[in-house]
Amino acid sequence: MSFVRVALDVPLRTLFDYRAADAVSDDVGRRALIPFGRKIVVGVIMELANTTDLPLTRIRSVLRIMRDVPPLPADVLSLLRFCSDYYHHPLGEVVMAALPTRLRRRHALKLPAVRRYRLTEHGLGIDPMALPGRATVQREILGRLRVSALGVDEQILRGLAPGIAPALKSMSAMGWIEAVVEAPDSSRAIPGLIPGPVLSAEQQQAVDSIRRESDRYLPWLLHGITGSGKTEIYLALIASLLARDRQILLLVPEINLTPQLEALLRARFPDTRLVALHSGLSERERLNNWLLAQNGTAGIVLGTRLAVFTPLPRLGMIIVDEEHDASFKQMEGLRYSARDIALVRAKTRKVPVILGSATPSLEIYHLAHGDRCRMATLTQRVNAVLPAIVCVATRGEKLIDGLSQTMLKALHENVGRKELSLVFINRRGYAPVLYCAACAWTASCQRCTAKLVLHLNDTRLRCHHCGFQEKIPAACPRCGNADLAPLGQGTQRVETALTRIFPDARILRIDRDSTRRKNAWNQMRDRIRDRDVDILVGTQMLSKGHDFPQLTLVGVINADSSLYSSDFRASERLFGGLTQVAGRAGRADLAGKVLIQTEFPAHPLYQSLCRHDYRGFAQTLLKEREQAALPPFAYLALLRAEAPKLETALAFLKRAADRGHSLAKHVTLYDPVPAIMPRLAGQERAQLMVQSRSRSALQVFLAAWLGILENHADRRVRWSLDVDPLDL
Ligand SMILES: [Zn+2]
Ligand SMILES: [Zn+2]
Repeated sequence: MSFVRVALDVPLRTLFDYRAADAVSDDVGRRALIPFGRKIVVGVIMELANTTDLPLTRIRSVLRIMRDVPPLPADVLSLLRFCSDYYHHPLGEVVMAALPTRLRRRHALKLPAVRRYRLTEHGLGIDPMALPGRATVQREILGRLRVSALGVDEQILRGLAPGIAPALKSMSAMGWIEAVVEAPDSSRAIPGLIPGPVLSAEQQQAVDSIRRESDRYLPWLLHGITGSGKTEIYLALIASLLARDRQILLLVPEINLTPQLEALLRARFPDTRLVALHSGLSERERLNNWLLAQNGTAGIVLGTRLAVFTPLPRLGMIIVDEEHDASFKQMEGLRYSARDIALVRAKTRKVPVILGSATPSLEIYHLAHGDRCRMATLTQRVNAVLPAIVCVATRGEKLIDGLSQTMLKALHENVGRKELSLVFINRRGYAPVLYCAACAWTASCQRCTAKLVLHLNDTRLRCHHCGFQEKIPAACPRCGNADLAPLGQGTQRVETALTRIFPDARILRIDRDSTRRKNAWNQMRDRIRDRDVDILVGTQMLSKGHDFPQLTLVGVINADSSLYSSDFRASERLFGGLTQVAGRAGRADLAGKVLIQTEFPAHPLYQSLCRHDYRGFAQTLLKEREQAALPPFAYLALLRAEAPKLETALAFLKRAADRGHSLAKHVTLYDPVPAIMPRLAGQERAQLMVQSRSRSALQVFLAAWLGILENHADRRVRWSLDVDPLDL
């Protein structure tokens, strides 16, 4: 072989040919250092070839094939090719984005040794209980090492508590412990596990039916109401796979919001290497973890959407927790859905994939009613009943900072009982609008079609879309009126009102602003756990996967705004979001209550919610979708365009539509329209929807259409294609 075809991080739909005399078949999937233009860059070898279409005089040579880490395996390479084809995104960008950042850099790697720690003779003689009281970390390490004569992997120790690294260092210096460097892989033994709680009959049945089919590709929707113990099902399945020496890929929407899951996994599988893969890690950590997954050492890979591309030689199962969550879809660049890619990956690897949710996406719910996907259902809460959900009609009522009398009375009673309450409002800041009553001026963002949100604690106006901020004006910039009024409510305003109304209550606000500081969220969680809070005020952040056992009252305000959105998925999302929030109430032995303030208590969405009737709600929505030919009954793609002027973007899309009409077979092209938010960060945005009842017809059309569009570029327009768009 004398040529290689290399994927490069450039927005071109092609591979690049290079001469490589020393390339062997084992080099496919490896990185290569190559000259590109006047630069030297890293690419990934996708193919070997005997010939090239380029004139030989123009072919340049690979500088070096990087054989420091194993190549990307064939199944990952084919997954990346699939991604590139399906989302019509340049292969080079897809491949390079799937590598940890460190592997995209030119300089050589110094691979970290995998270290284990064990007690020395001296360390064995030390009684952890005899250490001074404040030496909690050291005590923890000693305790852990005492039960594992072979020593414990550094990675596992680091998961025990914060501050492990300095403690390991000082304990080594004192000669209590020693590091053992070993080749990866040699440490695998049948992992121990700490048994969990006894499963309910319903849980056991779900586990048994999935286990029976665990040797082949089969998607499972695990549809369990909030608090029904889906996690225990994952753990039971993971245990049986680990016992068979398989790896598990567990995808979650946002890892920082679910530290409880990671802690639980580490506690339950103490001898298994668990690695996390998400964007919050340092470059180095991410590389280490990725390599531990790739060489098969990590038994459990817990990650966010990007982890779906991790090489896993012993993959036995993929679990996608909260599969309905929009975070699984990347909203820029390669706009892929990690959940959908997980299905493709499971299929090529012939392993089951479990999609868990209390409020499944309609796509998956519909799929699970066909014969290509199974469903396991959990209808009962473990040791608890579902909360009572009640609508509070607010039309005509005078609200106090958005709060009704009914809501305030319920809060008052709950605080009196010393139980925890949560007021949920999905908007941070003080008020969404700053308004001049004299001339009707409102503060809006210069760069977006959006109002500036009033943030009172640092007296600024902020755009939540582009990040623009400015000081609050002393008077109306249009008419000079000094009496500007905040309209509507955000978390800060509700917090302020509650502090005034309940002066003795301990109130804690949890949103993206209050948790920005490192560790702030951890400290807040400790406060809640220690019962140092009476009323929580929070956004959607609070609804994801947190258990607050003493939470008995949830009040929801300002939910109506998404009832009549122009995005056809808005009501599905609202129902899911409210179910998740309601699900926080009454989880242990205390009954829970949920109050939803609304002007439309008779709306079918709220009615279904009060009856805990996901099924009925989903069936109604599915009927509507079928009539309107929307997903899951049709497939969509969105051509998005942005330009300094809206007319430019619309004209580009109009030309694109004209060029597409002759190609469109069983495909409908709609008229170009401005985006729901037409201006963002100074750019005008428009979009063109393409729809088809046939996924393959849509794919054939898109491939042909893109080829034409790329030959008719307009320098003023930035455009991109979004296949299976989530946000319209
Ligand atoms: Zn004014
Ligand atoms: Zn803005």
